[in-house]
Amino acid sequence: MSQPQKITLLGGTGSIGGSTLDIIARHPDRFSLYAVSGYQRVQELADICQQFEPAFAVVPDEKAAALLTEKISHLSTQVLTGAEALEQIASDETVDIVVAAIVGAAGLLPALAAVKAGKRILLANKEALVMSGQLFMDEVKRSGAELLPIDSEHNAIFQCLPDLGTHFDDASLSKSGVSQILLTASGGPFRGFTSEQLSEVTPEQAVAHPNWSMGQKISVDSASLMNKGLELIEACWLFSVQPEAIQVVVHPQSIIHSMVAYNDGSVIAQMGNPDMRTPIAYGLAWPERIDSGVKTLNLFEVAQLNFEPADEVAFPCLALARQAFTLGGTAPAILNAANEIAVQAFLDRKIGFEQIPVLCRYALDAIAVEPADTLDVILASDRKAREVCEPYLEHLAVHRVKAQ
Ligand code: NAD
Ligand code: MG
Repeated sequence: MSQPQKITLLGGTGSIGGSTLDIIARHPDRFSLYAVSGYQRVQELADICQQFEPAFAVVPDEKAAALLTEKISHLSTQVLTGAEALEQIASDETVDIVVAAIVGAAGLLPALAAVKAGKRILLANKEALVMSGQLFMDEVKRSGAELLPIDSEHNAIFQCLPDLGTHFDDASLSKSGVSQILLTASGGPFRGFTSEQLSEVTPEQAVAHPNWSMGQKISVDSASLMNKGLELIEACWLFSVQPEAIQVVVHPQSIIHSMVAYNDGSVIAQMGNPDMRTPIAYGLAWPERIDSGVKTLNLFEVAQLNFEPADEVAFPCLALARQAFTLGGTAPAILNAANEIAVQAFLDRKIGFEQIPVLCRYALDAIAVEPADTLDVILASDRKAREVCEPYLEHLAVHRVKAQ
């Protein structure tokens, strides 16, 4: 029997990280954890090392390294530190598969390192692709990396397409008779809320997603529909289509994970219980299918599937993302950075939920968009957006206090 495939898991202590480890543990004959990273939860990372004994564990700094080393000194796992170590474990030549599950812009460089090294990459870290779309996809093409989406919607779309491999060009979908991609959205916890109601919501309400259990940042993004905006951009890059080819469909039950419409009138949907282990197992084993531990869908329990358009007036983030993609260049990277700042400020109770799109719009207006030809330009636009947002954040916070 062949050796298990070696996996690097970037962001092992997160929600996607946990679901990935669950699949790896179910299939020790097929997969082994070669390297893992964590950021703040050292005890969780130590527990992962205890269970899987990877060759490498990466933490952000010496302090975390000392803590982790103390906890796992009886293991063969080597502890590494810093952002370069993330790139090292993502591109290590013995690694077969890299799961990119760090949240936010921090995941860009290691995801790109995996791409450059020609790995199979399971992409959860949508922000990486949003920031660097063209550059990322050019590298995928150049290196021959196998990019498999595990964001549930994109994984569903991939499953609903004919077998085109993992590389798409501008004509791939139209040549296959695809007329539209139907990107589903749950609508989040505030579906149906008016703008006034949205200005009253708390971080606790925002992170309580009705169907999915996820990290804090993506939960807030789901509540603001920025997640759907980032996913729209993600889909444009992954499948080489324009935003006009994608319709967002709010489907509150999250049973259909997305659909593909064909020009003969067929609409193919991928359905299942909302559990990220399905797309992760699919990406790990593709083109085979393996047990993921997810229960088969019971349609009688589901009973109803509903659909409605997204409310882009109360939830301006979706339109902002579409605009940023159309502006092109560094605009999506600017939007992404501003959103990361805004979400953190909302979670820290500095600004209101309704001020998230205000900050994003401000950053897009304040910073000149440049062609996103190089990584340096992209990273500089990310930094610039964060710099510009900080003082404006204070301004928003003051106005909010006055309003209350
Ligand atoms: P999470 O917050 O649960 O986990 C994030 C992981 O990233 C953790 O392991 C954390 O240690 C690590 N991390 C955080 N900041 C870091 C930094 N500065 N440097 C290095 N590592 C850092 O998030 P999650 O819900 O697992 O989401 C991870 C990614 O997957 C996000 O991009 C999200 O949009 C995407 N995604 C998540 C889900 C989901 O169901 N959770 C679904 C689709 C896509
Ligand atoms: Mg998704």
